[in-house]
Amino acid sequence: MMIRSALSALTVSRGKTRWIAGLATGFALMHLANALPFADPRAERGGPLAENSQWLLAPTDPGCRNPAMVSTGGAAPREMETLAVRWTGFSNFELVYKGKVILLDAYFDRGGNYPPLGFAAADVKKADVILLGHGHFDHMSDAASVGIRTGATIVGAPVTTEVLKKQSVPDRQIRTVTGKGGESLQFDGFTVEPILGQHGTPDRHITEVMEGALNSLTPKLTPQQEEEEKLIRDRGTFDPRVIREGTIAYLITLDNGFRIYYRDSGGRVTDFEKSAMQRIPGVDLALVAVSADFLAPPVVRQAIEHMRLYKPEVYMPAHHDAAYSGHTPLWRPTEPIFQAMKDANSKLVTVSREYREPVCFNTEHNVQRGP
Ligand SMILES: [Zn+2]
Repeated sequence: MMIRSALSALTVSRGKTRWIAGLATGFALMHLANALPFADPRAERGGPLAENSQWLLAPTDPGCRNPAMVSTGGAAPREMETLAVRWTGFSNFELVYKGKVILLDAYFDRGGNYPPLGFAAADVKKADVILLGHGHFDHMSDAASVGIRTGATIVGAPVTTEVLKKQSVPDRQIRTVTGKGGESLQFDGFTVEPILGQHGTPDRHITEVMEGALNSLTPKLTPQQEEEEKLIRDRGTFDPRVIREGTIAYLITLDNGFRIYYRDSGGRVTDFEKSAMQRIPGVDLALVAVSADFLAPPVVRQAIEHMRLYKPEVYMPAHHDAAYSGHTPLWRPTEPIFQAMKDANSKLVTVSREYREPVCFNTEHNVQRGP
């Protein structure tokens, strides 16, 4: 299928196929690195994804190279089976599969006290589904505006969707879930199973000392920045239900069996997650928030618990970036997490990219289908 579509893109008529394909092969061999449509991160382990010589004929896929998000007008992957994943700060991801755009969390306009993401909430014009992990502002502050503009279906816990309703999101777009089972949501090309998780509860002894130290060294917020942050904070909730009733993990299963596990807060695993994971051998891709503990040992411990339960082939971290000052003003390094994970599981593939850099997967290869 891959070679057929690659050839059809290269040829204008059947009569010219042979010499154009020959030319393309020569060109591809000369420009090997550029000729691959994209590098599936699982190819680093070898195996079929590393040895797929058919791909030499395929042109580079702009949907797997350009940083422009599909939701803001960028190119979608050329192949239907290609999944494009872009991390856009905190626990935000954009997933694109079969022309559908899934946004995981929606916190884009963070204000001047944060590294810029390279786009604004107002630029997001296409989304089919928005899955909200929880209702804190740094996970949902742009969900209502993006949802209303795109018409996307927005999924969240009761404490999250209450906020959306107050922000004038039409009821027909909202799906309220508890994550306690029996709520599988069917979409065109994929299903979503909400699973009740638990919000992170970082050790206050660590966070108070660390935030105090960091804030003694970093510039104070200006009154304008304070005002800006207040408006953003007001578009989420601080309801205490968020911690144990309002943090939802999502198991997304594509129509070919490829599984993605998404968890937007680095808390302990729950019995709901354990029972969901007992039904499957593991997931192809885990997109998981690291804990907010600042120091490597507790952050690593929590990430290892996640890895052991979700059994991913590929792990991508989230929520490891930070503001310049104020609340949790320190990026969590991913290297200690990746090192400990690989010490425990040498087959694991770890991936961390910068904002909006695409990571593509050939989802025809997946755990469900086997090697
Ligand atoms: Zn939170």
